[in-house]
Parts: sequence; C-alpha cells; structure tokens
Amino acid sequence: MAEFDVVIRGGTVIDGTRMPRYRGDIGIKDGKIARIGNLKAHQAAKVIDADGLFVAPGFVDLHTHYDAQLFWDPYCTMSSWHGVTSLVIGNCGFGFAPVKPELRDRSMLTMTRTEAIPYASMKAGLPWDWVTYPEFLDSVDRHAKGVNLLPFVPLAPVMIWAMGLEDAKSGRRPTPANQRDVPHHQRSHGSGRLWMVRAAVGAQ
Ligand SMILES: [Zn+2]
Repeated sequence: MAEFDVVIRGGTVIDGTRMPRYRGDIGIKDGKIARIGNLKAHQAAKVIDADGLFVAPGFVDLHTHYDAQLFWDPYCTMSSWHGVTSLVIGNCGFGFAPVKPELRDRSMLTMTRTEAIPYASMKAGLPWDWVTYPEFLDSVDRHAKGVNLLPFVPLAPVMIWAMGLEDAKSGRRPTPANQRDVPHHQRSHGSGRLWMVRAAVGAQ
C-alpha cells in the first residue's frame, strides 16, 4: 500500500510561515499534509509533477461579493482560478438576507448599483428560497461548492428589515425596539448567530 495518497513533487514551496521559498515534495495522506521534504523514494498512489510551479496554501479572500454567484458557480470564479480556497461574503454590509419577498428586486438593484453585479444574472440565478438569514445559510448549504465559504450577516439588509427601507436609508440610528425586533425574527440556529445579528444593528 502506498505511503501517501498524493505526492506533489518538485514544486517551489511557499508555506505561508514567512520562511524563504524552497524546493520540495509534499506527501498527503487522508486529506492532510503528512510530510514535506525529499520524497522521491517514497510510494504514492498519485504523483503530481509541480516542476516549475509554486505550491502554496490556499488563499483566504476576506472581501468578496459572491453572495449571488455562489448559487450558479460553485468555484466562485475567478477567485478560485487564482488560488483562493476560502472566501468571505457579507462583511462590507451588502447581501441577500434577511430580505422580505417584496424587497428582493430592491436588494438586487442595490448590489448592481454598489458592486456592479449584473442584475440580469442575479434575476436568473438566485433561487430566493429564503427570507431569513438562517434560511439563506440553509440554501447555501444545499448548493455544492468548490471553495470554503465564510458568511457574515450583512448590515444593510438587517437595517432594512428592522427599520424599514426609507428609515434605513435616512441615516437615523436604530431604536432599541429595532434592535430587539431583528434577533426575534432571525433566531433559529442558536445564540451565536443571534449575537452576530444584534451586533450588526448596534446592540450591546
Ligand atoms: Zn464590498
């Protein structure tokens, strides 16, 4: 039986620890890096020739707007083409949950206006089988993905949910009643997610 499932051989390794780059082989067993070094003499079920290539950990993209695209493009191109293996959505405030059905078009127009995501693509590709944020996460879970996803609760939809569209646009701060209202509607997956929503509307 092979010692490693995969050996990535002869690449230039940049391991992310601030060590200078070095040439080496990487042995993978059961989905994890088992050894790094000169592994030419070792058995592997599969060998990947990385001569002339860089071998590095996947990049984490901390600011993206794949909220819609992830539903029809499991690899979230072009990020994955450039080595991104984990990406964040929602952290600059825009997103698609919680959104009441009558405001779906508005939220897509917002994404077009602020982030240049084509409205027609979203209209055709978003399943909209959610209203609340937990339901959105459930829908995301139902769709296959080739990258890791780290979703944040987006601020803009939460403010619109709590304050109404016009008040949210007006610049006034949420009232204590607004702050209480959101968690009540968004709660279904435990206190951790409840806290995130409260923080998003300014509750302590
Ligand atoms: Zn952004």
